[in-house]
Amino acid sequence: MKPAGHYSEGVGVLLHLCCAPDASYGVPAMQERFRVTGFFFNPNIQPKEEFQRRLLAVRQLQDFSSFALEEAGGGEEEWEEAVRGLEREPEKGRRCEACIRMRLRRTAEEARRLGIPAFCTVLTVSPKKDAGMVNRIGREEGEKAGVRFVEADMKKNDGFRKSVEISKKLGIYRQNYCGCRYSVRPGLARKE
Ligand code: SF4
Repeated sequence: MKPAGHYSEGVGVLLHLCCAPDASYGVPAMQERFRVTGFFFNPNIQPKEEFQRRLLAVRQLQDFSSFALEEAGGGEEEWEEAVRGLEREPEKGRRCEACIRMRLRRTAEEARRLGIPAFCTVLTVSPKKDAGMVNRIGREEGEKAGVRFVEADMKKNDGFRKSVEISKKLGIYRQNYCGCRYSVRPGLARKE
């Protein structure tokens, strides 16, 4: 991985950022190959205060790793609609598929709107995310939007361990649950 702040002159990619810890590894890793614009769109994060806290942490990351950032609010009602009836699904199950799909769909649409030719996500830094599922959804939503999806499994090459080290070193907030109210585990440290 090249030093934080390295900026590739390569092709542009809109990189969906779910949280600062995953972005702390995923952004510089992608900057080795692409000109990265971050995109924060996560209506799954509950409650509102937690959403603001995670967004602030991503903004703080820009002090250490230079990248442009697009932010999009809203989408909460659409998210509730997408996961209705799937409340009791386990993580990595159908609720997560619906949740990831709506976020990647919006990322693909945003990339097209901005004229950025490709999109990707840092979601696969987490061992709790099925890279096969994420990449399949990305391919499908990319095809619909006419934007190339960059497949990745960022937990490979020790990506998750490195993300823990980098985020601790930078002192950025690390959450202890994935994001929605169904994933809350009160009192537990983040283990994914
Ligand atoms: S556990 Fe995470 S990925 Fe799954 S529905 Fe909740 S916020 Fe989305």
